Amino acid sequence: MKALTLPEVGRVACEEVSNPQLQHSRDALVRVTTSAICGSDLHVYHGRIQGVEPGVPIGHEYVGIVESIGEGVRRFRPGDRVTGSFFNACGHCWACQRGLFSQCDQAGLFGFGPRFGGLGGTQAELVRIPDADYTLVALPEEISDEQGILVGDVLSTAYFAVQRGEIRPGDAVAVVGAGPVGLLAVELSFIFGAAQVIALDRVPNRLMRAESLGATPVAADANAVKRVRGLTRGRGADVVIEAVGHADALKLALQVARGFATISAAGVYTENALPVSMGRAFAKDFTLRAGMANVQAVFGPVIELLTRGRIHPERLVTHRLPLAEGPHGYQLFDQRQALKVLLEVSRAPSR
Ligand code: NAD
Ligand code: ZN
Repeated sequence: MKALTLPEVGRVACEEVSNPQLQHSRDALVRVTTSAICGSDLHVYHGRIQGVEPGVPIGHEYVGIVESIGEGVRRFRPGDRVTGSFFNACGHCWACQRGLFSQCDQAGLFGFGPRFGGLGGTQAELVRIPDADYTLVALPEEISDEQGILVGDVLSTAYFAVQRGEIRPGDAVAVVGAGPVGLLAVELSFIFGAAQVIALDRVPNRLMRAESLGATPVAADANAVKRVRGLTRGRGADVVIEAVGHADALKLALQVARGFATISAAGVYTENALPVSMGRAFAKDFTLRAGMANVQAVFGPVIELLTRGRIHPERLVTHRLPLAEGPHGYQLFDQRQALKVLLEVSRAPSR
């Protein structure tokens, strides 16, 4: 099959690799119709996530059709149209039984190499989905591929991060980073009751996008902290959502937060230390939340918001490329010339 791979850091290729096979009774094979490129893929692309092997498919966003299932799969049948989480969860361990799927004993990430479970990626014609019953989710017909592709990761990640910000009606929310996750966090912050959302980024057209969603745009430069204070009667943001994944952005998120604020970080971090002293944490009384999004736990509300037309994440899509042009898609997204790149992998069989 054809798949995108990382022959070396900073270079993606589309090449022929061997087809994945069912390995365990709870596996499904999914024929990917649409894949996409995520900000997390850029961490792989730039070598911030180490150990990704050449010749192995990368990527973790997918919509597709179940091709075949192991005998232990109960909830899906060949022909079902699905998307799924960017990580598998067994559904049975201590963590899964409490709904903490991202802490599953068996969890692995698709397309992040052996340090993260070594699962093949989804920027590929076929992908093996372990624990299909708890990793996949069926897509209702009202949800298009362009919407569904965002359910398995960025939309659910934004939902998870915003939910953990504990926004109260009337709050001023700052969103640091206006990529796909940040822009969806802007929309969701209003849904969760924010009176004001301030979006911070360095890229002017991303700030313009945030503004079109109702946010107040602020350039993430040396004056950013002053600007946010000015917009919040001098106190700083009540809730901060961080959607970048670099230490300088987390530092900015902490600086724009008022005392007793909650800072909810969605960014993928590989840094060893927090960019904040315990002294400052003591002085500010803040709550910091960070981590991998527990996406399986929020599929329900996210699908509800989509089917009822309350959120339109498909508006983020700026590029649709065939899989073979994936390497170019990575360049466009990395250089911020694209906001969301979809990869058209194969056509769904007509039913
Ligand atoms: P993206 O790369 O498109 O977005 C990042 C945005 O941050 C860009 O618009 C960039 O211009 C901006 N930025 C960079 N440095 C900044 C700074 N110092 N201050 C303000 N803005 C800055 O990626 P995305 O797809 O929106 O993903 C955002 C982050 O979320 C990434 O780190 C990604 O890995 C992470 N992510 C995490 C999870 C999870 O489970 N927690 C899931 C999906 C994505
Ligand atoms: Zn992702």
